Amino acid sequence: MLKPDISNASSRSPMGVEEARSKVLAECDFNLTNGPVNTYPAVLRALSRTVIFDYDPSFKAFYAAVNEKARRAMRLSNQPVLLHGESVLGLEAAAAALIAPDDKVLNLVSGFFSKAFEHYAKRYCAGITEIAVPPDETIDPDAVAKALKADPSLRVVALVHHETPCGTINPINEIGRIVREHGAYLIVDATSSFGGMDVHPEAAQTDIFVTTHHKCLGGAPGLAMVGVSDRAWKKIKANPSAPRGSYISLLDWEEAWRPDLRFPFTPIVSLINSLDAALDLYFDEGPEAVWKRHAVAGRAFQQGVKAMGLELWPAKESALAPMTTTIKLPSGISDTELRAAMHRRYRVHTAAGTGPTAGKILRVGHMAQSAQPLHSVAGVTAVAGGLGMLGHKVDVAAGVAAAVAVIDAA
Ligand SMILES: *Cc1c(COP(=O)(O)O)cnc(C)c1O
Repeated sequence: MLKPDISNASSRSPMGVEEARSKVLAECDFNLTNGPVNTYPAVLRALSRTVIFDYDPSFKAFYAAVNEKARRAMRLSNQPVLLHGESVLGLEAAAAALIAPDDKVLNLVSGFFSKAFEHYAKRYCAGITEIAVPPDETIDPDAVAKALKADPSLRVVALVHHETPCGTINPINEIGRIVREHGAYLIVDATSSFGGMDVHPEAAQTDIFVTTHHKCLGGAPGLAMVGVSDRAWKKIKANPSAPRGSYISLLDWEEAWRPDLRFPFTPIVSLINSLDAALDLYFDEGPEAVWKRHAVAGRAFQQGVKAMGLELWPAKESALAPMTTTIKLPSGISDTELRAAMHRRYRVHTAAGTGPTAGKILRVGHMAQSAQPLHSVAGVTAVAGGLGMLGHKVDVAAGVAAAVAVIDAA
């Protein structure tokens, strides 16, 4: 058999031969991380379209159409705001716009991303109160109700729907109802859950709902999709410290979709193509089918690893995220070594813990392309193989059988 000759690869870049080889292989790897995930081929084709002048009337019309598609996907009654940076830009923009200088913020901390919101919030607010749960637990809605009752000056509540590095899902609908009853405003980070399960910003009574398309929707990184409730727009417009003349200004971008208005700054044209393609795939497959695919992939993988005697990180079954599995590391196994072993032999990429789960778990994503039945089987196989390479033998056949049983029953 002919082997591809990549011996010259190092001559066209500073990369060594090993790195070059690894880049070649990477295109065929199983990316079972939490994003960026492998972009769908249709998205890649869309990204290769010519970058057209942003004030070409045809681009303005296209932008409006994509904004409307995003509105329908997010099931909003008003137009979402597209911000031209990652999801974290959306989160910072939400904090900057919504939080007034005399507002106090209730931050619901269930892991790394919720704790990180403090960085944005503290720049704009009068003080932060925190409800923190252990990183294998989820936020208790009753605790939220109690905190809001105890301190009426808490005006803004921040929640992460899917705490990705923990593999947990917080009870967004219950918390949304409580926050609204109290007259406060809810900012939700749904970066990694939207598109992979049924989450509805308005049914959950969120005021600012931040997500993106490079996780469960299989798009490319670099866009934030931000849903803002009518009452939140009112508060933002009355907030003297809400930024204007800024790339992170929700107010500047609010009506960027209108064909008759100028863009406040240059939009990232290629990513509008990416979002358009990703949303078309979402609608063509059907949102419910997409959610089901994520649910089956997650459950198949989770049952597979459990059948091999491994333990999941979340304390209770009801908190398990369909699109992320977090596994407790068996004693004596390091996440770095395990991930390297899985990658070296099986070409399966996984993620590590972050923040409070760092060093304690193996994290496996089931998102977009990787939310496919056989990706879960490949994942189970690689976990068993990787552990075996490190001297921790598990029953790979039992794992695969359990995963296949879930797929067959779906
Ligand atoms: C991935 C992730 C982010 C960061 O999003 P980027 O667009 O990658 O910056 C924020 N919050 C959560 C819950 C995430 O999973």
